[in-house]
Amino acid sequence: MAELNIPEAPFIDGATHLHSGKVRDLYELPGGDLLMVASDRISAFDFVLETPIPGKGEILTRMSLWWFGQLADLVPNHVLSTDVPDSVRGRAVVCERLDMFPVECVARGYLTGSGLREYDASGEVCGIALPSGLEDGSRLPTPIFTPAAKAALGDHDENVSFQAVAGTVGDATANRLRDLTLAVYGRAEAIARERGIILADTKFEFGARADGTIVLADEVLTPDSSRFWPADRWQPGRAQPSYDKDVLRNWLRSPASGWDQPSGEPPPALPDDIVERTRALYVQAFELLTGETF
Ligand code: ATP
Ligand code: MG
Repeated sequence: MAELNIPEAPFIDGATHLHSGKVRDLYELPGGDLLMVASDRISAFDFVLETPIPGKGEILTRMSLWWFGQLADLVPNHVLSTDVPDSVRGRAVVCERLDMFPVECVARGYLTGSGLREYDASGEVCGIALPSGLEDGSRLPTPIFTPAAKAALGDHDENVSFQAVAGTVGDATANRLRDLTLAVYGRAEAIARERGIILADTKFEFGARADGTIVLADEVLTPDSSRFWPADRWQPGRAQPSYDKDVLRNWLRSPASGWDQPSGEPPPALPDDIVERTRALYVQAFELLTGETF
């Protein structure tokens, strides 16, 4: 398990800190609702970097809210309000607490990452057989549901078969999670495509209300939970340029950063121009997708 250097979550008056991930801090409010706060933290190569990207938390929060709106007729979501404490205004949402399904609901329309690695080894992804001859970045004949089991903090999620999901949550719920995942991906992929962005894959988390209703939770369709590729630079057979982290990753890998990745040491602090260029990528993705100005 990788060492994660997540800073202590800020104190928020009247809220109880529950959990911190690489990027977000989760609190409980009096009455039991959750306060989900997106920080400006950014991760790369499995490290949370010590230098934040100013505005990232707000951009991702607004993007997620925008998507929830686009999807509202397909599935209910967990957002209750954006009326949040001043210290986190703009980058936090109040959401209803759900009984989360222990499944990362991944949809893939293109082959890359862990899906590509599985395919290269077995010709399948999560038990789904795919045609031969696909390469890094290939568009799949049809989008597929490739669930993963949520790993402990710092570990990688593990791809699992549909049967494994059905074994955990039951057949009916597994079918519903798959259908919802593919329906939401299909909607989002079409919207992104119109705006020149390929939504290669994405991860959703769903939970249940006390009455059993399945609700879309967590963050949705942000660069942190999805792969966005500029459509005009798509070229299967190589790693695709990514919207959000290319500048950062390229700098970290370059001699200029001085980072000795194999040593296992955390990456160095980011210079101002890398911070600024990375921030610009998030702003650009947000503005292209939503048509709004940040
Ligand atoms: P990572 O940084 O790798 O994502 P993580 O998943 O532990 O690590 P977060 O994503 O910040 O960290 O954690 C958010 C947590 O809140 C997740 O466990 C998610 O399943 C949970 N969650 C999201 N929405 C809800 C909800 N409406 N009710 C209950 N739990 C929720
Ligand atoms: Mg998470």
